Formats: sequence, structure tokens, C-alpha cells
Amino acid sequence: MWAFQQLEPFEHFISRQRAKGHSIGFVPTMGALHAGHLSLIRQSNAAHDITVCSIFVNPTQFNDPLDLLKYPRMEAQDLYLLERAHCGVAFLPSEAEVYPQGHGAGPEFMFGTLDQIMEGAFRPGHFLGVAQVVYRFLQMVEPDAIYMGQKDFQQVAIVREMIRQAGLQVRLVMCPTVREENGLAMSSRNVRLPETQRTQAALIYEVLQDIKERAPDANLSHLREEALRRLAEAPGFRPEYVEIVDGRSLQQVNAMEESDFVVACIVCWVGEVRLIDNLVIKFSDK
Ligand code: AMP
Repeated sequence: MWAFQQLEPFEHFISRQRAKGHSIGFVPTMGALHAGHLSLIRQSNAAHDITVCSIFVNPTQFNDPLDLLKYPRMEAQDLYLLERAHCGVAFLPSEAEVYPQGHGAGPEFMFGTLDQIMEGAFRPGHFLGVAQVVYRFLQMVEPDAIYMGQKDFQQVAIVREMIRQAGLQVRLVMCPTVREENGLAMSSRNVRLPETQRTQAALIYEVLQDIKERAPDANLSHLREEALRRLAEAPGFRPEYVEIVDGRSLQQVNAMEESDFVVACIVCWVGEVRLIDNLVIKFSDK
């Protein structure tokens, strides 16, 4: 595996790959890698000559400075895992190279309601930071496809819209959420959960499955309220939102007949850790 910390040799390497006609798959991450990230590497490896995985803890997408400070960093272990997963290239640029003209210098994207609901409402500015950093990495890597996890469903919608607005020629591939044995969605933040809370956090997935099971015959706003109550009653749990939305517009759905693609989304604090998860509860590919 090649590992680059500097942009110039990285860009030379990439242009040599291009000259050879190699296709490039790209997996952007913030490190502290787990099986979820590695599943994206595998999917990219299966479709491209070379996979580039970036590791960059992007300051502009953290609305909470404490969250940025506490974000786990484990570079040596990450490189080891990437090597074992047969990733072709690890790219770990410095902040100065990602943002040579400072934060906020890239193109301006307008996401309308897409970044005002759910994560957008609770983490103001978060998605502008995400769009900005992914745009910048797409410039540096120039991949044929970018691989992202369904776990961050709204993030995928934002990046899809950013790619459309910027007119970029890159395919966006959304990969299924990888879960721990008890159903908890894998996340870099899970390492901050004490063992008992990590076990209890499986409740989030249980609640999502319950919504999926009952949605066809239930009143959706009652389901939402009940889910919120169930989470709030669990010791140490503090739900931020439970939403049932259209999978394309991310607008709230009031009845299952309103859409052929419906997703239930939850954000809940467990102790000190903010966890995000979602489940597709209806999808009919007409
Ligand atoms: P992060 O390092 O948290 O920014 O995540 C990097 C990429 O990995 C994003 O596209 C995430 O959606 C994806 N990802 C994170 N956790 C999982 C998971 N449990 N299953 C699948 N993809 C994931």
C-alpha cells in the first residue's frame, strides 16, 4: 500500500494511474477505522483498479469544538487495517493542503431544506463543512466513483446534491450499514462508549426495526412519538430526533402511501456519545 501525507507526490501518483488507464475508487474517512469503513474499501476494490482511502478529521464539519477535540485518532492502526484490507493508497493530507486558502474558500452550495432538517437542524453548518471537504477531495483524487455509508444517509443526500450542483463526473455509491453483533451501527464514536452502554445502545436498532415492522398499519406520528418515548425512558439515553422521511427529498412522510422509498432516522445520545442510525422501512423499485 502507498501512503501519502503530501499533496504533490499524491497528485503525481494519481496522474500516473490515470495515464495507465486505471480506474479509481475513493473512500473518504475521518479515521478510527472499523469494519464499516473496510466494507467500503472492499466494495471499491471489487469495482476499480485502485482504491484511495483518505483519512482527514475535517474541522469545518464539527459544530461542537469538544467533539472535534475528543474525536478518536489512531493513525498507525488505521494504516495497518487499510493494508490488510488491500487498500491501494492511503492519503492523509494536512489541513494546510486541504484548505490552502483557508476554510470556506470553495464554491458555495445551496442545499435548501436538505441541510435544515435532522442533522442540519441539530448541527448547524455541519453539511456545508461536509460538502466543502468532499468537493476538495474530489478535486485532489479525481476518482471515477466515491463510496459512502448508508449509516450517514443525509450526508449521502447532501454529497449527491453537491456533485449535481458542481457538475462533477463521479459516481456516488451508497454502501449498506455494517452493524455490531447486537445490531448497533458501527461508528468510530463507539470506542467512547463504556461496555454496558455499548450493549444497551442496541436499543436504537431495535426501535428502528419496530418502526419498520409496524409502519404499514400504524399512524406514523404516533410511531415517532412512541419511539422517542421508548428511547427517552432508557437510562442514559437522550434522543434528539426520530424522523420518518422520504428517501429522496428527506421530507417527513405522514403516511406510508405517500412514498415508495421511506427511511426511519434516529439520533440519540447514549451517555456522552451521540449516535446516528437509520433503516429503510419501504423501498419499491418501480
Ligand atoms: P467517517 O469516518 O465517520 O466520516 O465515515 C467515513 C465513511 O464511512 C462515511 O461514508 C460513513 O457513512 C461510512 N461509515 C461509517 N460507519 C459505517 C458503517 N457502520 N457501515 C457502513 N459505512 C459506514
